[in-house]
Amino acid sequence: MSGSTWSCDRCGGRVRLSARNGISPWFSLFREARIFSHRVRLFSLFGFDVWIDASWLLLAALISWTLAEAVFPETTPNLARATYWWMAGAATIGLLFSIVFHETAHSLVARRYGLPIRGITLFIFGGVADLEREPPSPKSELLMAAAGPLASLLLSAAFFILLALAGAWNAPDAIRGTLWYLGYINFMLALFNLVPAFPLDGGRVLRAALWFWRGDLAWATRIAANAGNLFGIGLIVYGVVNVMMGNFIGGMWFFLIGMFLRGAAAASYQEVIARTALEGVPVLQVMNREPIAVAPDLPVAALIEDFVYRFHHRTFPVTRRGVLAGSVGTEQAAKIDRSAWPTTPVERIMAPCEADDVVGPEADALAALAQMRRSGRSRLWVVREGRLVGVLSLRDMLELLAAKLELERDRGGEFGRQSGRPGR
Ligand SMILES: [Zn+2]
Repeated sequence: MSGSTWSCDRCGGRVRLSARNGISPWFSLFREARIFSHRVRLFSLFGFDVWIDASWLLLAALISWTLAEAVFPETTPNLARATYWWMAGAATIGLLFSIVFHETAHSLVARRYGLPIRGITLFIFGGVADLEREPPSPKSELLMAAAGPLASLLLSAAFFILLALAGAWNAPDAIRGTLWYLGYINFMLALFNLVPAFPLDGGRVLRAALWFWRGDLAWATRIAANAGNLFGIGLIVYGVVNVMMGNFIGGMWFFLIGMFLRGAAAASYQEVIARTALEGVPVLQVMNREPIAVAPDLPVAALIEDFVYRFHHRTFPVTRRGVLAGSVGTEQAAKIDRSAWPTTPVERIMAPCEADDVVGPEADALAALAQMRRSGRSRLWVVREGRLVGVLSLRDMLELLAAKLELERDRGGEFGRQSGRPGR
């Protein structure tokens, strides 16, 4: 797996604006961190932090169990059961190392093209190198994507060479069996990732080629993501057939990987649309130019009655003659006694504005969205030289995205159609 961050299938590839704060699955697409919510930092490699997700530990346990109880007894017969478990443990750690090696190759190439990398996270079904943006050109995408499978192939060759040496030195069967498995699994890792199904590496290669051909990243992503979707469906069907024929565990794996791939393909496509829709668009163009602000001497009771209940926002900017003075809302109101609401002016309870609350009108909308994601705020105050000139809400950005997606859908494509109406 590879490349820029992709989110897993939380939204089923559908766009729905939920009533609650307008925070929709679109938003969660941008909260990549959410799928890595239970992660632990393992170590640092070439300056990249390597994280491990709790899901990988579960996977590691399952893999060890499968290797010790089923795979090694067949490939390397006549050993003690404890030996199989030692082999399985070593092989699982070797697999972890192999995935880190694969992702590091992606990351090193990405860094060469100046793409910021947040780190490498190992989670269920492999690893993800977290890139903050899309690659700048088809060539960089191609090299970045190819680096992973190439690294896996090299590693596979290295393990097979070690296996040959171990044979020559009459090393114990347990060592030879483990080396064989690591050579084999790295080969499979390269092969699987080379399938031209986005967001697998092969799909990225396909996307780079299409992107180079037509110069249209969104179109190229759509085709590659459709291929990812189809491959996902193929794996699901294959999994179901396997389960029906009695191969329950193997079938389940194909089914799960297929589901995961479909979700990842849809999410990646939507993310690209979102990025292309918002990148380079100044906040000025998306913001509400007639922001609703409250005066410092407004009583808290009036704030709740005339603003919170009327406009359905939880927080409002406080301005003094047009100059932003702070933020106030239900959170601050809840801290004082209700009986004091009619007599307390909002300036006494308002919160001072932090850097995360404000954004400049010329800032990039994509950067503003990243700021919302980071800080968990759904509205930002747009300020020029201290004066409040607008409010940028997540809802406005989602509507812009939905409109762009609608246009995208008219051009056809599975995800366009699947994405549905951005209704409320
Ligand atoms: Zn990869």
